Amino acid sequence: MRRTKIVATLGPATDQDGMLARLIEAGLDAARLNYSHGDVADHARRARAVRAAAAAAGREIGLIADLQGPKIRLECFRDGPVTLVEGARFVIDAELGDHHGTQAEVGVTYKALPGDVHAGDTLLVDDGRIVLQVERVQGARIETTVQIGGPLSNHKGINRQGGGLSAPALTHKDREDLVHALAHGADYIAVSFPRTAEDIESARQLIKAAGGRAGIIAKMERAEALDHAAEIIAASDCIMIARGDLGVEIGDARLPPAQKMLVAMARRQFRTVITATQMMESMIEHPLPTRAEVFDVANAVLDGTDAVMLSGETSVGAYPDKAVAAMSRICLGAEREWSNPQSSTLPDVAFERVDQAIAMSAIYCGNRMGVKAIAALTESGATPLWMSRVNTAIPIFALAREAATLRRVTLYRDVVPVEFDFNSVPYDGVTQEVLRVLKARGAVSDGDRVIITKGDLHGYSGSTNGLKIVTVGEAVAAAG
Ligand code: PGA
Ligand code: MN
Repeated sequence: MRRTKIVATLGPATDQDGMLARLIEAGLDAARLNYSHGDVADHARRARAVRAAAAAAGREIGLIADLQGPKIRLECFRDGPVTLVEGARFVIDAELGDHHGTQAEVGVTYKALPGDVHAGDTLLVDDGRIVLQVERVQGARIETTVQIGGPLSNHKGINRQGGGLSAPALTHKDREDLVHALAHGADYIAVSFPRTAEDIESARQLIKAAGGRAGIIAKMERAEALDHAAEIIAASDCIMIARGDLGVEIGDARLPPAQKMLVAMARRQFRTVITATQMMESMIEHPLPTRAEVFDVANAVLDGTDAVMLSGETSVGAYPDKAVAAMSRICLGAEREWSNPQSSTLPDVAFERVDQAIAMSAIYCGNRMGVKAIAALTESGATPLWMSRVNTAIPIFALAREAATLRRVTLYRDVVPVEFDFNSVPYDGVTQEVLRVLKARGAVSDGDRVIITKGDLHGYSGSTNGLKIVTVGEAVAAAG
């Protein structure tokens, strides 16, 4: 069993006949719709395709809708791509129309940009491939000198080194896309470029207003987001370490420590975390990863990430299924060396809720008495989430009846979603039925010890109040 989860971005390359089935076969856990590209019809079609392929494979696959956010982009050029030369002058003009760009100037999507930059600032274009030094700002015109030149085509992203651009996190397009994504069954909404917890809270309100219960993934990709990391993590369900934009804003040297810090913070705050961007970048063109990419994925696993993510490798790459297979293989290899059965990272917190106390107790006991599996009967997925925040070598089976819950836990490290309709089981037969289901999956056999957590009342969120330790194959007393 692999414990780290794999997220893959969908795109033209995964639209090929049978490719989704191959990704699932190779180990896909959640699919990402990237609302920065394609139109809503593409996303709707892909969302349906994911559900169909998951059903055909008998697997739970989570669906993440990643909103574009206020990514600031340069506008288009009149006669196609230009080449900026080091030392040359180049103007970003907020009042220049789209398709009016030339060798000397170009428009920008964010009209307030001139108000946010100052002489001496460094602007990074196209993920830092082009570097512009701001000389002065005159009205709507940002006059720069090209510090690092190169080819520049339409619609490239632009960031300010050090962050500080003040575009709000949810654009008009994002609000529309969010409603669209919920209508097409998104389990998670990823919010791009949040600056503070308020950006996450407004997404939460929009989800509520639309009647959805999707989780929120906060993409950590702004310098300011690092300053407000604790609040952003608290306001969201999951964070994504969006190393592309984040690296541009804070500089590549600060990126590895930031990753380690964010993974640790998310786990300590009982949230999940996805490590993303360029993990297997060379596999866009090649069937095998580089050694550096192998180490990057393995190190993210050792950091404690819940999931690792593929972007262009699957959406536009030549080997989408091989990229998923390679990731899966490397995660498994890293996990084999990881197994620290002691709950070394159990956060030193007072438990606020009974179900949380039960979840933590399950891991505490399990880690110390040779338990083969933990079965958490859950309505919302909260119990397995708490359990999975502590290092354990024990697989956690999240037994839930709601499809939304099963798909929600696809991102949780160490957690396996299992459909279980406890309403169809007599109350005093639940323990035996849980053991039967685990045995049928090959997860346990006679003589193995299993921990089961559940509530006296089934079907109520947050009602877990009991922990039971049983041995497979031994007579179990009645009364559940
Ligand atoms: P993106 O986010 O792929 O939507 O840009 C990830 C990142 O910035 O790393
Ligand atoms: Mn980004």
